[in-house]
Amino acid sequence: MKTKVAELITTLYQDNTLSKEELVYILDHIKQEEMELLFNLANATRKANYGSKVFLRGLIEFSNYCKRTCQYCGLRCANVKRSRFRLTKEEILACCYQGYELGFKTFVLQSGEDDYFTDEILTDIIGEIKQKFPDVAVTLSIGEKSNSSYRNYYEAGADRFLLRHETATKELYDKLHPGMSFANRRECLENIKVIGYQAGAGFIVGLPGQTSEILAENLVYLKEFKPHMIGIGPLIVHPDTPLKDYSNGSVEQTLICLALTRLLLPDVLLPSTTALNVLVPQGLKGGLQAGANVVMPNLTPVEERKKYELYQRRISADESKFLLARIEKCIEEAGYEVDKGRGDHKSFCRTKLE
Ligand code: SAH
Ligand code: SF4
Repeated sequence: MKTKVAELITTLYQDNTLSKEELVYILDHIKQEEMELLFNLANATRKANYGSKVFLRGLIEFSNYCKRTCQYCGLRCANVKRSRFRLTKEEILACCYQGYELGFKTFVLQSGEDDYFTDEILTDIIGEIKQKFPDVAVTLSIGEKSNSSYRNYYEAGADRFLLRHETATKELYDKLHPGMSFANRRECLENIKVIGYQAGAGFIVGLPGQTSEILAENLVYLKEFKPHMIGIGPLIVHPDTPLKDYSNGSVEQTLICLALTRLLLPDVLLPSTTALNVLVPQGLKGGLQAGANVVMPNLTPVEERKKYELYQRRISADESKFLLARIEKCIEEAGYEVDKGRGDHKSFCRTKLE
């Protein structure tokens, strides 16, 4: 006889929706066998939408300066131990040239919230990337900005914007983000979507005080907001942050959240995140098997890569081409097909701003 969890998972697979209470029930009661069912159905859903393709994005971490103090993050400005760097425009473009030669058609520009990069500087960089590589997509992951800044970047040619909502409940959000506003984060996400970006939200699994209810709230929010991309990764405790005495997030719970997300939003672009791969050697493969369809190899120069420490990771001192070769091998060995195309969301059609 089917368990209640198995029944709920099957319903979710068929209808792509469940109530918050039903999601909590799954999170609280799921066992090994039901996990296999969940991952199989998530994998089947991903296959139905994207075949066995895995899209690659070239990640360029261009500044580790940050004015924020997110409690979990090694780049928070209060971490005075962290030495800081900024890539110049020329260095960013050099990463793009290298990435382009390796076949990437998407560059993700990521940084702390660094006011050195004014709209003028950033739009100049974005414009030049788009001019030199007209067939690539540019994704930004640079935090909260004004609506007019978001519009400027879009007009300069940026196509996608990643801004994780981090956690969907105000109380926990406020605790972990001193001086930041839950309402503003949500407004930024709305603005990003309205402007016409392919929008990315997402959350961290294993934050202190995070219950199954809160995890389910995250999933319900994502279902309602319908982002084009969703980043979900485990907390990795950083020793130079206020969360230093907590435990890392659970890999298993992250995989469950990825799979539930795939079933809730069948055609979403879903990375098998770096954080997952840091915690377990087979993390990348596990993410793909739970329904993920995107991987983001790092194009940042090795010395700066070491300093871009949101969390401590096993830094590969490999140059990008060797790193890429390893990732490609891993994807293929897991039975998937590497796709270096732009990998836009199915619904995407770029519009001009009014
Ligand atoms: N500053 C930008 C982009 C860089 S941070 C921003 O905050 O949006 C990118 C993501 O890294 C964050 O959204 C957060 O979810 C994740 N992150 C930061 N520190 C982390 C940690 N210690 N463990 C896991 N994820 C972390
Ligand atoms: Fe800065 Fe982003 Fe880290 Fe927060 S998560 S401290 S905004 S880099």
